[in-house]
Amino acid sequence: MKAMLIAVSLSLCAIPAAAGEDSRQTAALLRDRALSDPVAWDLLDSLTTEIGPRPVGSEAMTRAKEWAVAKLRALGFENVEAVPFDKANAWFRGEESAEITAPYRRSLAILGLGAGVPTPPEGIEAEIALIDSLAELEALPDGSLAGRIAVLNWRFYAAQGEAGYRVASRGRMVGPSIAATKGASAFLLRSAGTSPARRAHTGITRYADGVPRIPAAALSHPDADLLERLVSRGTKVRLRLQLESRTIPTATAWNVTGELRGREAPEEVVVVGGHLDSWDVSESAADDAAGVAITVAAARLIAELPRRPRRTIRVALWGSEETGDSGAAFATHYRDEIDRIILAGESDLGAGRIYRIACSADAWSNPEHQALAATLAPIGIVVDRAPAAFGGVDVEELRKAGVPVVRMSQDSTDYFTIHHSADDTLNRIDRAALQQNVAAWAAVLFTIAEGTVDLRAGAARP
Ligand SMILES: [Zn+2]
Repeated sequence: MKAMLIAVSLSLCAIPAAAGEDSRQTAALLRDRALSDPVAWDLLDSLTTEIGPRPVGSEAMTRAKEWAVAKLRALGFENVEAVPFDKANAWFRGEESAEITAPYRRSLAILGLGAGVPTPPEGIEAEIALIDSLAELEALPDGSLAGRIAVLNWRFYAAQGEAGYRVASRGRMVGPSIAATKGASAFLLRSAGTSPARRAHTGITRYADGVPRIPAAALSHPDADLLERLVSRGTKVRLRLQLESRTIPTATAWNVTGELRGREAPEEVVVVGGHLDSWDVSESAADDAAGVAITVAAARLIAELPRRPRRTIRVALWGSEETGDSGAAFATHYRDEIDRIILAGESDLGAGRIYRIACSADAWSNPEHQALAATLAPIGIVVDRAPAAFGGVDVEELRKAGVPVVRMSQDSTDYFTIHHSADDTLNRIDRAALQQNVAAWAAVLFTIAEGTVDLRAGAARP
């Protein structure tokens, strides 16, 4: 009786019951295969071990591009290509150091911020001004930080996850220019991560036009704690900061893509991927070799099926996420087919377990998506019926152009202890969690690519 009711309700929605059931069974099969499939781990091991850190514009990034092309071809993708684009202002770190010079000498664990200007060779030495939040920094009178090194001391707790990172990284992005308008000679930030170790967290900063560009670095949490304890005792603290860096005006970067051409509607495309580039201080296993490995392995499981899904799956390995521009280059390259991109998503939050999925608002009342929800439930994923407002930095330009995005929320309680730091290493990746990610993406990719639903109507407004 129950089976009959299901068949009737599916036929009412003009979807052949048999085909729908096939699709649901295939998604479940992909999910289960992924949980024991070694490909994601092998890719992750290969990219981190054989290529290493992958800053845009570096020799390693050229090797990463060649690695990606070779892997996608070997794994059965079609139309594999590395699409070049110009990357302005590729930034490279040099020697960096900082120390307390008064009330006593002590070295500090720092990392310069990406795109940051260097100090003079002799460094900058000044008394610090400790500021607890971006709002407090913004409220300071102009000129009030003259002759000081501004230290933005906002705390980010692991439990805050992505929301905490958004606030902390905003301080990193805009803090140096705001401090400069107040007269500061340099800027330090309590690391926009959650590591309790003496490991600083790097990341991009963005200088405002028309404001003096001041050197900027992140400070490890225990070192920020020390400055805070000294200042709370009424002690005047002086620091010396030395930062070297160089910038190449234009470098070549690449977005590497490979496809599984759709069998019935190849012009309709599902875009998914991770980013190949990384920060320079570690092999960047979580950010984002994991996202590359997860999405390639998920699509490759679909490539092994006896027939291709209806729609095309395009895997994109973006080439300049950390310092920007690969998402814009991608959207420009595919501008004539943006209307036919059904869904886009990026795996870029490490390899922690996925616990929630969001995409278009009205998708979940559709039988295809209800079947997907049922396929994801056994691996611990719930549906968020609100439309996804963000699908990853590299699909942001597509989203702004009206493409619906998928958002897979991940457990990130460990992620920000290693993110953008020297601790983002392969041993910190949980293999079972990595494979749960592959299982989820494989089920989602297959269901959307085999499906017929137009997700645009319920997408979040650009
Ligand atoms: Zn990333």
